[in-house]
Amino acid sequence: MGSLRRKETEERYKEVRAHGGLDGPCVLCNKPALKTFTAWKIIKNDYPYDKIALVHDMLVPFRHVTQDQLTQEEIDELNDIKESYVHSTYEWILEATTKMKSIPDHFHIHMITAQD
Ligand SMILES: [Zn+2]
Repeated sequence: MGSLRRKETEERYKEVRAHGGLDGPCVLCNKPALKTFTAWKIIKNDYPYDKIALVHDMLVPFRHVTQDQLTQEEIDELNDIKESYVHSTYEWILEATTKMKSIPDHFHIHMITAQD
């Protein structure tokens, strides 16, 4: 499958996955926040899409939930954060399709500033 990661990053990612590093305690829940909102936090992606990204962070709800389980309040705040913070801070919002998602149980949005 096509990857947006450089070879070294993709290999490190696959290595971690192969050894169950993304199973068990949720890495998105446990990752320290770069910035927090009421129901959401921004975290750094340890496996960035570094073929294209200079900066690659993720926006995730504090609650460990899928997209379908978000409350209306969480969805409203998500839209506010996108309109204000995300649009003024990053260049791209990227959504992986289901077959590319490695952590489907914890909703997250990829936000990228591209390389020159
Ligand atoms: Zn989680």
